[in-house]
Amino acid sequence: MSNYKIAVVPGDGIGKEIVPEGLRVIEAVAKKHNFSIETEEFGWGAGYYLEHNMFLPEDGLDTLKKFDAVYFGSVGLPAVDDTLPAKDYTFKVRTNFNQYVNYRPVRTYPGVTRPLRSEAPIDFVIVRENTEGEFVQVGSQYLPDSENGMGIDSSIFTRKGIERVAHYAFKLARTRRSKVTHITKSNTLINSLAYWDRVIGEVAAQYPDVEHQQMYIDNSTAMFVLKPEQFDVVLTTNLFGDILSDLGGAIMGSLGLGGSGNINPEREFPSMFEPIHGSAPDIAGQNIANPYGQIWSAAIMLEHLGEEEAAQSIMAAIDKTTTQGVLTVDLGGDAKTKDVANAVIANL
Ligand code: ATP
Repeated sequence: MSNYKIAVVPGDGIGKEIVPEGLRVIEAVAKKHNFSIETEEFGWGAGYYLEHNMFLPEDGLDTLKKFDAVYFGSVGLPAVDDTLPAKDYTFKVRTNFNQYVNYRPVRTYPGVTRPLRSEAPIDFVIVRENTEGEFVQVGSQYLPDSENGMGIDSSIFTRKGIERVAHYAFKLARTRRSKVTHITKSNTLINSLAYWDRVIGEVAAQYPDVEHQQMYIDNSTAMFVLKPEQFDVVLTTNLFGDILSDLGGAIMGSLGLGGSGNINPEREFPSMFEPIHGSAPDIAGQNIANPYGQIWSAAIMLEHLGEEEAAQSIMAAIDKTTTQGVLTVDLGGDAKTKDVANAVIANL
């Protein structure tokens, strides 16, 4: 019987409410599919920062390395500078563990009213480059208080960084509907994103069986709303992917529906699985947060660990639950966070 060691980092805000529910689903599905999980919880995040002046201890990354995967909620609190959670926790884990793929699927949830007019089924995956691009935080502010003040951030796109995420996207497309749409803005960002296009073009040539389409970011935001059914794999940069995945959540019906994985495809390090939304302090502590994205993230994690059938069971149970109308407030229902997890477990 396989046993998986999972590090659990609920983080802050609604993370503390939805992670335990996701864990209950994982425990139930493990029983059903005959594997076991061993979890250890770490109370890191912005709350930890307020007490210890750091988001995770000095040896936190070394601690995480010993696990097969990290099941994460979200970090951030209104009392903490909101530039810190990304810099001091999320980017730290993603970069140090070479989690260069941010895998963010978007799909139709049965029984959930979505804001789009068209009823055409949506089923695509955003593959967001997760370690470089616009979020490398290389830059400075010069004389910020003076009338000559300025702020500069540089984007960094390396051949190695583009090639590896592009190969991942094209290989993924081969397991799906064989189409990659790569998002760019090389008509104005004539160095960084022109190079992004060039390297992706070179990789695409190695996958002649996969359709390769290039789309500008402005057009793609419109297409997400007007014709999302055209997408299969959307390959995009760190910043564009950040924005497009919130839009992906919105077209599904709520930000609370999106699950994701920060993947290290070579498996040198554990991958980390989290919903696409943040810690939502405005609704924390009320048992009303939507846990579907967190539960979906559990399915993505189990699939990554090789438990495909368990992952499929979770997705089937989610579909049955939304079809039954077990919907949280953000989806127009009145189900509580725990009601959703209870119903998903019953449907397993
Ligand atoms: P981050 O920058 O960390 O992604 P954010 O500032 O974009 O965070 P979120 O925490 O994602 O903000 O919340 C944005 C809005 O979406 C809030 O109004 C929040 O209540 C709502 N929201 C986010 N997640 C959920 C959820 N799981 N269930 C219900 N509402 C949610």
